[in-house]
Amino acid sequence: MSDHTEDARAAERYAERYDVIVIGSGLAGMTAANVLARSGRRVLLLERHYKLGGLATWFRRGAGEHIFDVSLHGFPVGMIKSCKRYWSKEIADRIVQLPRIKFDNPQFSITTTFNREDFTRLLVEKFGIPEETVKAFFDEAREQTHYDDESRTTRELFDKYFPNRPDVARLLMEPITYANGSTLEDPALTYGIVFSNFMSKGVFTFQGGTDLFVKMLRDELVKNGVDIALNSHVKKIVVENGRVAGVTIADAPLTLKSPEIGGAPKARSPLAGKTIGATAVLSNANLKGTIFNMVGREYFTPEFVAKAEAVRLNNSSCQVYIALKPGETLDEEKCGDLLFTSVAPEFRADWLLSRNITSRTYSFYYPKTRPGTDRYYIVASSNANYEDWANLSEEAYETSKRDLIETTLDALEKYVPGIRDKVAYIEAATPKTFRDYTDHWLGASFGTKYEGLAISRGLSEQIPGLYHAGSVGIIMSGWLGAVNYGVIASNDVDSYLIAAAKE
Ligand SMILES: Cc1cc2nc3c(=O)[nH]c(=O)nc-3n(C[C@H](O)[C@H](O)[C@H](O)COP(=O)(O)OP(=O)(O)OC[C@H]3O[C@@H](n4cnc5c(N)ncnc54)[C@H](O)[C@@H]3O)c2cc1C
Repeated sequence: MSDHTEDARAAERYAERYDVIVIGSGLAGMTAANVLARSGRRVLLLERHYKLGGLATWFRRGAGEHIFDVSLHGFPVGMIKSCKRYWSKEIADRIVQLPRIKFDNPQFSITTTFNREDFTRLLVEKFGIPEETVKAFFDEAREQTHYDDESRTTRELFDKYFPNRPDVARLLMEPITYANGSTLEDPALTYGIVFSNFMSKGVFTFQGGTDLFVKMLRDELVKNGVDIALNSHVKKIVVENGRVAGVTIADAPLTLKSPEIGGAPKARSPLAGKTIGATAVLSNANLKGTIFNMVGREYFTPEFVAKAEAVRLNNSSCQVYIALKPGETLDEEKCGDLLFTSVAPEFRADWLLSRNITSRTYSFYYPKTRPGTDRYYIVASSNANYEDWANLSEEAYETSKRDLIETTLDALEKYVPGIRDKVAYIEAATPKTFRDYTDHWLGASFGTKYEGLAISRGLSEQIPGLYHAGSVGIIMSGWLGAVNYGVIASNDVDSYLIAAAKE
């Protein structure tokens, strides 16, 4: 599959009606489609973009010479099991550990394998915390479940075990905040679940890059009989007699406003302008977009609408993508695989989001990331607010992007001396890019905050046959969370289809 694959099917090869239509090919959407197809359901997967993957994406520059991964920075070990069970052993077998996770900030500089054993060692030896306290903290974090008290905050959890230790809070929280935008004020249970997922064995990646990963997923989808239509922007989820009845696909080809990441060719959906019937519809699109744009508030109870309106979105991101010149290398020992840096004197979630960037996370990609190549890449990520970028004039936006690139190179000099001379290609993406690319409101990198989960799960009670799977809350987002939520939602859809068949 090339990056610009146009699905070759002619319109007439699609069915008039499906058991389920999945809107969006993020990891949750693709996983749900695959699980449903494997259980014999007739599935149509519609994606507005010209390629599959959603935020699990990549792009090429320099006539294909450079390749950049957008969100392949690290995920928990659970991906191996989920990929093996819901995709294939071949996919699972390519998941490998990133052994060198580094932190560098004014409070500490450490290297860790990012698992419980090594964190215990660090907390005891470097931070002077008694081993029993560390054990009690990890045990409590691990025991958190979705049914625990939601009102206790992560800050309260840290204060219980590590009072007056902002350095410890930083070590434990900064990677999670970077990963999903959560703060010390978010429920401790969400922190506990995500942290324990990562802590179990460390941080993992997919060897071969996102392009190979998505290609392998696509091959599975095709093998299992999923009909795929790219460039297919769903305009409307059709509701008839109080139930889901199908979807309507926009007539016009999608035009992306931002040139970054895709620079999408304008192509027409093979199903442009058509309405396709389905017993169930599973949306992988932004939760709010699903409710307010694709369905319409008039189909929901006022109480549900009020709760959906109150759901907060997660923050967005900025990224700088850097390709090194042929022959230039990176010092693996010094850079590590994933490097969390900050020049801020202490950890504060609002500083992580500020336009005045103090924290950057670098993903270093070595030739081992894509065996067969000899090139080195760096992706620098920072959290960001959509509002800070959305309303700039075109000129101010370009200036801000250039500034983002320059300040990133300045900051990187400490870890890659002489970086400016080594760069073959450099480009930046902003919250506007992520908004444009996926239609996530406010360019949210991780969907909605935790309260979105109840709304996502509640859709089918409002409109039978309507389901959602995708980034809501920090447990149901990220690569692993999205895959697992796709599985959960596909089971719900399957039960609905069984019941509907009996009516
Ligand atoms: C910069 C960045 C870095 C990240 N780093 C990591 C990381 O290191 N580790 C990790 O685990 N996670 C990371 N993530 C998060 C992770 O990529 C996402 O949580 C996950 O990929 C989201 O999957 P999803 O299923 O929710 O769908 P999404 O990826 O959000 O995809 C939704 C899909 O729906 C499509 N769509 C939307 N509306 C319509 C419509 N109307 N019609 C048709 N299609 C539609 C979109 O085009 C998109 O393809 C990162 C995210 C970002 C932005």
